[in-house]
Amino acid sequence: MTLRVGLGYDVHRVKAGRPLVLGGVRFESDWGLDGHSDADVLSHAVGDALLGAAGLGDLGEHFPPGDARWKDASSLDLLARIAALLAERGARVVNVDAMLVAEAPKLAPHRAAMCANVARALGLNADAVSIKATTNETLGAIGRREGLAAMAVALVERGT
Ligand code: MG
Repeated sequence: MTLRVGLGYDVHRVKAGRPLVLGGVRFESDWGLDGHSDADVLSHAVGDALLGAAGLGDLGEHFPPGDARWKDASSLDLLARIAALLAERGARVVNVDAMLVAEAPKLAPHRAAMCANVARALGLNADAVSIKATTNETLGAIGRREGLAAMAVALVERGT
């Protein structure tokens, strides 16, 4: 049995009038994130962490942003596809820990729903997924609310 860790990072620009979807939760907001899919920056970081742990490349390789199939795609659906890729290779997700970097919105009221969404997409118990948030203390582009960033790590167990 081998344990493997993976790292994910993503950033999306803020755009007025776009939906704001984080961890599969649609926020009440007059701004959202620009992107080809639903631009769920948190789920994208989680997906890259999982692919990295399994040695399966990165999100852009599996779901190219130029591909019409992934236009406005639900990122939870992409996570479910990644979970299937891992399962095909005998890899089991142990846990995921993710961090959103954003001045807004406040995540706390939605944290449980986000964890449940991500866990469900990956076929995990909700307690295997942790989602946290911090601000960037108004520093830099994230601090100026020009975008949101997310980081994640994932631990995966493989039979060999
Ligand atoms: Mg992305």
